[in-house]
Amino acid sequence: MIGLISATSAGQRGCEHLAAAWPDEVRVYDGPVREAVGRAFAECGQLVVFLATGAVVRLIAPLLRGKDTDPGVVTVDETHQHAIALLGGHGGGANELAQRVADVLGCRPVVSTATDAAGVPGLDMLGWPVEGAVAAVSRAILDGDPVRLDTPHGVHPLPALPPNVTAATDSDVSLTVTDRATSDDAAAGTTVLLRPPSLVVGVGGSRGVPADEVLTLIGSALADAGLSPGSVAALATVDAKADEAGIVEAAGRLGVPLLTFGADRLAGIDVPNPSDAPLAAVGTPSVAEAAALAAAPGGELLVPKRKSAPAEGPAMATAAVARRRPRGRLAVVGLGPGARDLLTPRAREELRRASVIVGLDQYVDQIRDLLRPGTRVLESGLGAEEERARTAVEQARAGHAVALIGSGDAGVYAMASPALAEAADDIDVVGVPGVTAALAAAAILGAPLGHDHVSISLSDLHTPWDVIERRVRAAAESDLIVTFYNPRSRGRDWQLPKALSLLAEHREPGTPVGVVHAASRPDERSEVTTIAALDVTTVDMVTVVTVGNTATRNVAGRMVTPRGYRWQA
Ligand code: SAH
Repeated sequence: MIGLISATSAGQRGCEHLAAAWPDEVRVYDGPVREAVGRAFAECGQLVVFLATGAVVRLIAPLLRGKDTDPGVVTVDETHQHAIALLGGHGGGANELAQRVADVLGCRPVVSTATDAAGVPGLDMLGWPVEGAVAAVSRAILDGDPVRLDTPHGVHPLPALPPNVTAATDSDVSLTVTDRATSDDAAAGTTVLLRPPSLVVGVGGSRGVPADEVLTLIGSALADAGLSPGSVAALATVDAKADEAGIVEAAGRLGVPLLTFGADRLAGIDVPNPSDAPLAAVGTPSVAEAAALAAAPGGELLVPKRKSAPAEGPAMATAAVARRRPRGRLAVVGLGPGARDLLTPRAREELRRASVIVGLDQYVDQIRDLLRPGTRVLESGLGAEEERARTAVEQARAGHAVALIGSGDAGVYAMASPALAEAADDIDVVGVPGVTAALAAAAILGAPLGHDHVSISLSDLHTPWDVIERRVRAAAESDLIVTFYNPRSRGRDWQLPKALSLLAEHREPGTPVGVVHAASRPDERSEVTTIAALDVTTVDMVTVVTVGNTATRNVAGRMVTPRGYRWQA
């Protein structure tokens, strides 16, 4: 039973919320708080108290008996921002309860016991199944004891691990990344088995094959080969079987995607056991083996084709298992304009998900404190874009989890394009959008981008000026709001006045212009002026300049471009 206690109306609302979410698990304790806490402490296995942590500490202090008997206690602050596991984190289940409360109330769980707060570094965030001696190995990792990292099938895109976890130690305590079902060390209670998504099961089936027959066959194929079902990443078959109900259901029950390939493609793959039956039925001499190999490029066939053995009737299913080459992971992460609270939670997660960070040194400085200890940082100075892009892709190709970082959005005048131009389909790529300078600046200036707008970089280092000029003219003629990136540097000072003069051919001299320097950074500076009055010497390379369209107005010092609704006209 979970006892709920509150003293204020906000607290009472919180109690009601939890009571509605978990009707069979909770009891609400009314009356004076001290007495309510006393009764709940005696009667319940867990307590949620809507009171300041300090107040709860004083209330429960005289009641404490021991770790084994005291209930788990979670406190929630008045504004429901934090669910704090105060007492009995493990034994009393308070850590888990804090998470549950946080899920219901939409707040943050606060957990301070070591293993939960630190986790086995990153293992929790992989989404890969973990088996074996989790507690013992977590303890060793946290205590800094030597832990052997075993990766028998190659480099995997793991997050950064602390320095005590390395391949170069003969410790019995180990973290093993494998699709092999068991190991002696795991049996001995000293190994954690982390299941990479490395196996693909190719399946074939006659029309009407039952899902149970497919699943039983897959189960025995894996078990006989000593492979873990936790590592099955996908089922694969021929296009003609994409709608075969039993195969679709089998994939659904395993929780993996069903990949399908054309018969032509499968027919072209060399397999150990081709046969005539599928050739006649679907146009390829192999379905199971060829599909498994097709879904595992560069991989190896671990289990050749085998047939199901139903209790009665003919065998209707075939299966084969292949192991994929580990796929590295490249996250292209935008860090936003500078302020920490404009870095998205997803970007933060990706930085902690990576074991290698690639980026310009000044951007690395922006987020260095967020990186997991042990993260490899490959930073370089201005100008080395191509090299950074290549390095990031090479590292991902080698199997690592790489985050390629850039300010604002990493795809806007930044690293995403050169990197993805280099990348083949042998790595996974994840993009995390960031707040680009134009948007950060717009929010400071008012509402300049309320209608059609465009960004133009005035840097003619990589783009010939006549191309830039053509685009500025087009924007001028089509009355687009324009945000200039890279507007002006010491060596490039005539481009901005030239661009403004082109816009001025189609806009009044009094058209509002917003200048934002260092948006969201400590030295942020901004001004709303006009095309005629803009002093270009206030503009540098950490500035964006937004020029309004013919409808943009200065309203109370803010730049406002009408949305163009008729009711506003
Ligand atoms: N990827 C970045 C842009 C890189 S191009 C983004 O999405 O924001 C570099 C140009 O961006 C700079 O010359 C400047 O014009 C602009 N810029 C980047 N950060 C800025 C900031 N915080 N304030 C104002 N302009 C910025």
